[in-house]
Amino acid sequence: MDSKAPAQQTVTVEELNQIIWNHLYERDWHNNPSRGLAISLALEANELLEHYQWNDKPVGGPEAVGEELADVFIYGMQIAQQNNIDIVHHIKRKLEKAARKYPAEDFKNKTPDEVRAAWLKNKLAHKKEGL
Ligand SMILES: [Mg+2]
Repeated sequence: MDSKAPAQQTVTVEELNQIIWNHLYERDWHNNPSRGLAISLALEANELLEHYQWNDKPVGGPEAVGEELADVFIYGMQIAQQNNIDIVHHIKRKLEKAARKYPAEDFKNKTPDEVRAAWLKNKLAHKKEGL
């Protein structure tokens, strides 16, 4: 795969955050409890899994998978909004932690056996750090 990520529509995270907020606010859904949102996120993640249940290629294709991913993302943003979480900050921090835990040079251009060994070695080495 190319080092350039597949294109998305040009919209900032803040614009997307506002679009989601507007949709919810207009329906008085912006105060839904986080517990229900977390359950809903998990249910939507399972709907995504259904598309891969018996096939490596998703049933329904990219359109169906995109709809379930959107559901998961929207619920994730709602949980962030409900709890005043800056999700961009947390995504960046999580990727920084993952980069320390799983250095690219341990994985890039390696065989599947080397990748498995590197994953296990790094996972055990960082277990105490809570990464
Ligand atoms: Mg769904």
